[in-house]
Formats: sequence, C-alpha cells, structure tokens
Amino acid sequence: MKINGNLFVPSKIAYVRGDKPAVECILCAIIIKDPRVKSLEVFRSAHFSLCANLYPYSPGHLLIFPKRHVEDVRELTLAESRELFHLEKRTLDILDKLYHPHGYNIGYNIGEWSGNSIKHLHLHIVPRYRNELGFVDIITETRIIVDDPVKNLPRLRKLFKAKTF
Ligand SMILES: [Zn+2]
Repeated sequence: MKINGNLFVPSKIAYVRGDKPAVECILCAIIIKDPRVKSLEVFRSAHFSLCANLYPYSPGHLLIFPKRHVEDVRELTLAESRELFHLEKRTLDILDKLYHPHGYNIGYNIGEWSGNSIKHLHLHIVPRYRNELGFVDIITETRIIVDDPVKNLPRLRKLFKAKTF
C-alpha cells in the first residue's frame, strides 16, 4: 500500500491500533519468555535484556531494558545504572561494526505525555544514517522500513557473546 508516495507498514499500524499481545507488560513477557509475545532478544546481562525493535525507526534500532519492571530511570540501583552504561557503550561498538551508522539518537520516553506506549523503562538506541528520511516520515509511519530486524539477529547475538566486546 502506498501513502504519500511511500510504503505503508501495516504491521505497525495494527500495533498502534491496539492489536497488541494480551499481556500486562510486553517487556516483562519477553523476560519470562511468554510465548504470546514475539521476542527479538539479542542478549541478556545480569540485570538487563537487549532486544531488536520489532518496528525499527531505522536499521539496527535496539532497546535495552531492565529485567525487573521499573518505569523511571531514577528507580535503577547504582549497580544497574553502571551495568546499563557499560551495555550501552558496548552496543554502540557493535552497531558501529555491523551497521556503520553516521550518528545515533539515544533516549527514554518517560510518562504518559512522552509518546511512550510501553511503561516498562527502555532505552532506545537508534542508529542514524546520512541519507535517511526525516523525523516526520518516521513518526507518521510513511517511510520505508528497509531493514528486517530479524535478519541480523544471529550476527548481533554472536557479537554480544564474543569476549572482545
Ligand atoms: Zn514490565
């Protein structure tokens, strides 16, 4: 389907419309490996899980979230904060190696007016590329998603397991 000259992404629209898995928290469901949720998990550390985003804003879009359900970054313990920062740096090294992006947007959406659809705290790591379409194309969901998030999972998993990173 084409809208505004770009490809429409029906799966994402279904998600926004409310056709979500019938679980209380989708990220907690990933942690307990609930079969109702499609998990694109790449790696687990002591306190965090790292997943590819099922609906990537750009190729290589990853999410890092704590295994326990917290909704604000200020709820993280010092040990969790340290681990998260370490994991974030490692993720950037791996994405550099695999995707060669030209920049990154990294951040949280916290609170009901932030545009957040999942309350469980999650850090977006969004690689940016010189020739990609703009932010408006992304938020209106009219851009072409050129990357299949499942395709690179095996390579991502291998890189996260490797001791060199
Ligand atoms: Zn949760």
